[in-house]
Amino acid sequence: MNKIDTVSDIVLQSKKIVVFTGAGISTESGIPDFRSPGGIWDRFDPNELTYQKFLSSQISREKYWERQKILWPLIAAAKPNPGHCAIAELYRMDKLDCVITQNGDDLHQKSGVPEERVIELHGTFKRAICLECGQKYPGEEVQVRLESGEKVPTCIICGGIMKPDVVSFGQAMPERETREAEKRSATCDLFLVAGSSLVVYPAARMPLIAKNNGAKLVIINLTPTPHDRYADIVINGQTGEVLSQIVEQVKAKSKK
Ligand SMILES: [Zn+2]
Repeated sequence: MNKIDTVSDIVLQSKKIVVFTGAGISTESGIPDFRSPGGIWDRFDPNELTYQKFLSSQISREKYWERQKILWPLIAAAKPNPGHCAIAELYRMDKLDCVITQNGDDLHQKSGVPEERVIELHGTFKRAICLECGQKYPGEEVQVRLESGEKVPTCIICGGIMKPDVVSFGQAMPERETREAEKRSATCDLFLVAGSSLVVYPAARMPLIAKNNGAKLVIINLTPTPHDRYADIVINGQTGEVLSQIVEQVKAKSKK
């Protein structure tokens, strides 16, 4: 019995699956993983774009918004790939409890998983937020301002500093989402990691919470992760390909 076969059996037996996704699932849709170097993104070193620097330095804010300006068209045009679609299929089969994602690219929602089933642990690029008054602005609206020459947009209501509503290095994780993710991880029967190297804490704690509460743990990632030894099954491969194969088998077996 191969691993795909085994995982499809586990999925069939599961009723409350939590899928945990990271940058690895979205690179197949053309969204860059900022922690892997390459091309124009090398100009935007995450260590230079920490939350502390964003708050304290105008130059850092300009750089951050310059990245957002280049990134926005990619996010707006990105389409879900077979990995996202396979997860949406689990939702339609009534197997999915929720998706916990480290990505802020909206691709799970675009693939058909309802908004309320997606927990965005690191926020989202699709809107900006005023750090003073909390007012939120849609990404496309801010993009218009950036393209008309604003280097660092400020809040229209209070004049405060605005930031893409995504968690930067050094910035606290959103409380409500973190609590919700921990709760869902503790009560699922299968925790399926797809495209995360599980190195960013506290996000990487979730699979351990699941495992400690009796869930099965399956990890699908291109490269090994520090949590592989706790997993029931580890598959090293492209998430799009692996997830679609698993879901295809689940469908075939459930027809029998
Ligand atoms: Zn404001």
